[in-house]
Amino acid sequence: MLKYRTGLKDMPSYDVVERDWKIKVNANECNMNLPPMVEDRLMGRLSRVAFNRYPNEEYDALREQIADNHKLEIENVLLGSGSSEIIEKLFYCFGGTKAKKIVYPEPSFSMYRIYTKAAQALGVPVSLEADYSLDVAKFVAAVNDHKASLAVICNPNNPTGTGYSVSDIEFIAQNIPSNCALLIDEAYMEFYGRTSVGLLKKYPNLIIARTFSKAYGLASARVGYMLASKVIVTMIEKSYMPYHMNVLSLATADIVYQMRHEYVPRIQMMIAERKRMSTELDKLPGVTVYPSETNFVLIKYAKAKELNEYLESKGIGVRCFGDAPGLKNCLRISMGLREENDQWYDAIKQFVEGRA
Ligand SMILES: *Cc1c(COP(=O)(O)O)cnc(C)c1O
Repeated sequence: MLKYRTGLKDMPSYDVVERDWKIKVNANECNMNLPPMVEDRLMGRLSRVAFNRYPNEEYDALREQIADNHKLEIENVLLGSGSSEIIEKLFYCFGGTKAKKIVYPEPSFSMYRIYTKAAQALGVPVSLEADYSLDVAKFVAAVNDHKASLAVICNPNNPTGTGYSVSDIEFIAQNIPSNCALLIDEAYMEFYGRTSVGLLKKYPNLIIARTFSKAYGLASARVGYMLASKVIVTMIEKSYMPYHMNVLSLATADIVYQMRHEYVPRIQMMIAERKRMSTELDKLPGVTVYPSETNFVLIKYAKAKELNEYLESKGIGVRCFGDAPGLKNCLRISMGLREENDQWYDAIKQFVEGRA
């Protein structure tokens, strides 16, 4: 018997069924590759990469660009291999023992529970209301009662799609102790348009996490970033290996960020598709559609499991949550291209109308 780390065997894993889907709308990815102009510029850039050097310059160039855009300083920005790495490091840095409590809403991003476990901290899930709204007073009370070290809000929330107002976030920031870090995971912010970045200067315990994986369609490159006070950035940096980002991803994200205006039309198209599909889904008997501020919609349907199996049989991959708390009979569908959306919609319509 190999002597693995204690607890490793019981670590929960991220369970997604992946196949060679005909229509893949299960991971909130962007179903379009790079815009042609971005691809052109990127190929030129990649031909000039200094493969023999550690990527110092590229790391700081991207940080600087992100800082400038948010009117922050480079020391307020930390990059990660996807915001996943950043969130995992934050849980690690504010965890370490069960005496450290991490508060997050439920249902929310399933990885929060897993990162809590990995950090050996204690998770305190706070149930969302039946309509997936967040009772901010209840959330604040949980943070205070548990003397939490880290509180996390995903805004807009994955997988419910719910957007919380900046004043709700500020209410939380105002009413939790200043010795509790407050992470706002803004993975879908670009589809929502509202951010808590403006609160950073007022609340030094606030941390914002962002990703290139969703609106910027760069899931393959694994790039995310965190905005926070210099003190927090310096502390979290200690948990990273030197040169943890590779030059290919850094150079790619740098070009994408420079050319982010190229993404505005497609972000608008995703939002328009989400609105169109929400309206269409709402017409189907027995299907509940939750309001979404993201590039996906969550639906509830009594026979969600059977519907999911039917979709799978047609090569359509959506996200099914099984018996996850607060998500029974729910399916999450990311917005694909218009034709793809029409196709999965037709399949759902057939099923719920008993024509499958
Ligand atoms: C997708 C996602 C992330 C992380 O994505 P990365 O690809 O690791 O940047 C983080 N939080 C939420 C809520 C997400 O949906």
